[in-house]
Amino acid sequence: MLLADLPLSERDPALANLIRRENDLESSTLRMIPSENYASRAVQEAAGSVLANKYSEGYARKRYYEGQQIIDEVEELAISRVKALFGAEHVNVQPYSGSPANLAVYLAFCNAGDPIMGLSLSAGGHLTHGHGVSITGKYFKSVSYGVRRSDHRIDMDEVRSLAMEHKPKLIWAGTTAYPRIIDWAAFRVVADEVGAILAADISHISGLVVAGEHPSPVGIADVVTSTTHKTFRGPRGGMIMCKAQYAAAIDKAVFPGLQGGPHNAATAGIAVAALEAATPEFRQYAKQVVANAKVLATALGEKGYAIVSGGTDNHLVLVDLTPKNVTGKVAAKALDKAGIVGNYNAVPFDTRKPFDPSGIRLGTPALTSRGFGPEEMLQVANWIDEVLIDPANEAVQARVRAEVAALCTKHPAPGLAI
Ligand SMILES: *Cc1c(COP(=O)(O)O)cnc(C)c1O
Repeated sequence: MLLADLPLSERDPALANLIRRENDLESSTLRMIPSENYASRAVQEAAGSVLANKYSEGYARKRYYEGQQIIDEVEELAISRVKALFGAEHVNVQPYSGSPANLAVYLAFCNAGDPIMGLSLSAGGHLTHGHGVSITGKYFKSVSYGVRRSDHRIDMDEVRSLAMEHKPKLIWAGTTAYPRIIDWAAFRVVADEVGAILAADISHISGLVVAGEHPSPVGIADVVTSTTHKTFRGPRGGMIMCKAQYAAAIDKAVFPGLQGGPHNAATAGIAVAALEAATPEFRQYAKQVVANAKVLATALGEKGYAIVSGGTDNHLVLVDLTPKNVTGKVAAKALDKAGIVGNYNAVPFDTRKPFDPSGIRLGTPALTSRGFGPEEMLQVANWIDEVLIDPANEAVQARVRAEVAALCTKHPAPGLAI
């Protein structure tokens, strides 16, 4: 037998063992990082397929390499499904991930030094929306808007006055740690007033948008970017939707502007995810993601946790731990030991440093994908509280860890172990 034909378990037992252990971890813990999920077995099969062997610089029917008969069909299938799903005029599925998708938007519409606007990281925005440590904050004149102190909602009056003052070329609407509905139309009004391109980044919520659980920016924003692996539940990747008039600029920015050959296996995974997202089961999942987040927010609020913005409309809950005298990092690490995996996160107007902020961010997509409903979410809220009452108590962590594993066996994680 050729070495190249050996299964991973024989060719590289050490690595195979690491994958097995990660599989066990993802199956026996509560994965509550809001950007994570379980891709289906079908998505994983496509994303790990021989399509990864092909080089296909260019776009379908306009390639720089031969042998694209099948690849062209794969990419066209992914594009037509995504178009139908979101009602988009033009779709590009080649961005390697969410960040490169956003960079393509800058390249399509801006020159270095141009003013751009986005939600600040500390208020729930993404690094690529102009944060200082990101290339998007270094190469452009970045202006950040925030949320209101009173209700933690995006302050559209501030967005408007900053836009009038700085005349941005590009305005980002979209979030990574924000529990509320985004008012796309209000952003459209401001963008029109100052002649800016409006980009909606729905990386976190694209699965909710498809299912009608969050209003869609398609048809309102000039361009819409998304990851494909968060609530959308596809392979790791990115996609861009835009109005027909911007199709050429976006395509040129992705290739040859920023990238070489597309990841064809990821493209295939996106096609499968788009097929799955069009089913009634997916709509039911997205509905339950939001319902579960509401149950979690309410239960934690009743236990005395400060819930940022007072609740949630989407898949995540931002918990301010200040009333409990626990820091975000201590809490996240204690919960991790108990098998509850989230992340520490700044809360709006946080007085602590980003590396040990006041909050934690918890999401329901992965738990919902494994079949959790309201009853399980109440149990999860109880466990979180039991651990955080005394985050140094390792006996409680060990007990909760065992109880978590027991509940997980009742709700097998989909898609794992291939
Ligand atoms: C996750 C995310 C991204 C970046 O996606 P990567 O795939 O991690 O590069 C961009 N924008 C928002 C709003 C996100 O939440």
